[in-house]
Amino acid sequence: MHKNKDRDVVVVGAGLSGLYAALLLKEAGLSVAVFEARNRVGGLTFSPNSAAYGGRVDLGGQWVSPKQRRINALIDRYSAPLVKQFVTGQRVCLHGKDTFVGAMGTVPGLNDEEQADYKNAYGLLYEAMDRIAPNPWESDDAAKLDSMTYATWVNTICQPGRVHGAMTRIPGAYYGALAEEISALELLQKLKSCGGPVFMSDTDTGGQSAHMMGSQIVSEGMARDLGDDIVLSAPARAVDWSNGEATVFTDAGAWRSRNVVFATSPTMISQIRFTPHLPSKRRLLHQRFPNGRNTKAVIVYERPFWRDRNLNGNVIATDGSLTAAYDLGDEQAGKGILITLFTGVAAYRVDNLAPDRRKARVLELLTQALGAEAQNPIEYMDQVWADEEWSGGASSPFLVPGALTTIGGELREPVGPLHWAGTHMSREYRGYMEGALAAGEAAATRIAAGH
Ligand SMILES: Cc1cc2nc3c(=O)[nH]c(=O)nc-3n(C[C@H](O)[C@H](O)[C@H](O)COP(=O)(O)OP(=O)(O)OC[C@H]3O[C@@H](n4cnc5c(N)ncnc54)[C@H](O)[C@@H]3O)c2cc1C
Repeated sequence: MHKNKDRDVVVVGAGLSGLYAALLLKEAGLSVAVFEARNRVGGLTFSPNSAAYGGRVDLGGQWVSPKQRRINALIDRYSAPLVKQFVTGQRVCLHGKDTFVGAMGTVPGLNDEEQADYKNAYGLLYEAMDRIAPNPWESDDAAKLDSMTYATWVNTICQPGRVHGAMTRIPGAYYGALAEEISALELLQKLKSCGGPVFMSDTDTGGQSAHMMGSQIVSEGMARDLGDDIVLSAPARAVDWSNGEATVFTDAGAWRSRNVVFATSPTMISQIRFTPHLPSKRRLLHQRFPNGRNTKAVIVYERPFWRDRNLNGNVIATDGSLTAAYDLGDEQAGKGILITLFTGVAAYRVDNLAPDRRKARVLELLTQALGAEAQNPIEYMDQVWADEEWSGGASSPFLVPGALTTIGGELREPVGPLHWAGTHMSREYRGYMEGALAAGEAAATRIAAGH
């Protein structure tokens, strides 16, 4: 690290958003310093080694669509392995003790009447999503949609039952939020920014079409290019912005700068002491921007045994027991590798179990879906993101009812020298890796334009 502690820009947080902002600013000729609380870069992308599988696996974000240009450019630049999603065969849907099998893109086991209700509910969701304005608080339905949670809104479009269950899991599946806590307006704008749930769950060219094996490689690549401008194990604890510039106090010392980019969730920003304190609108915004829950497991088997039964390893549930399982192997896979996601309500059911009981529950659900061999993995690891000190939840911060229509206009506004990034700030792919990059780029562009 340079001895000189003045920088054009200080970035707080070395996730994808902060690293990309810093890289773009450095490439534009500005001096930068990035402070990261953890002893690693990557934030919600975290790729430990799997001894059993032989390579890196992902306990955080990993799927990308070919339409997400920024992340694909970085995947190329840093040679992160990309695997086409394996979908040969059928998917499984769990509901209580029932196990249904059917084609990808459907909810297996729905009867004809439920299929029609499902189609109808999705049609209404898309109609509502299409009516959301670029500034969502300016939408015609803004006041109504922001006065209720998404759960209340779902009650207006379908009756209790399996279709209701499938519709209710959407905020958890995509953002880790409970239907009962996220504003309907916020959910609809988030979904719209990502191209809608059909696109995001599509395994052909959509959001689930390919996944990295080792998504942290992208952040590690950016960190290499930033060199000694990154300081790890250096949480920002306090910021003094009293005289038009800012001094950021970290565990590794204090740095002075004319611009600070906060590329962390609002929950994390709320733990930093500001002098003077942030304007009330900004503080209230951060308080109304909590994180959801997302717990992910990686399970390795000697063989992908489910493929013998024409199952593709994809599992969903309409009872909130699990969010999804996916087979991460390629067509020729020798070893079997699955991930499970427990998000929103499903996460609440496993997060607080002791680790051995959580593992037993994951294997129990996989056994119900895929067969008895699921009981005998050769490796198992999981990550409860809500327990992570420097994330405090995942997969993306979301706004509660009443926030967008009252203080949404403050969302992206800098406060003096203080700027805001992170995936939750993005206009595109909010909540996703691509959104993190887009928000980092927007902050960098704004700062570079001011120089
Ligand atoms: C289980 C899971 C699955 C996901 N699946 C996908 C997927 O398949 N596809 C996809 O596109 N997205 C996915 N996501 C979401 C994606 O990973 C995130 O949207 C993205 O990585 C967020 O990046 P970010 O830079 O905005 O924030 P973060 O990654 O949260 O980075 C913030 C950084 O700030 C640091 N920090 C916090 N406080 C401080 C402080 N005081 N001082 C210094 N540093 C601090 C943190 O340690 C962290 O490194 C998933 C996420 C999870 C958890």
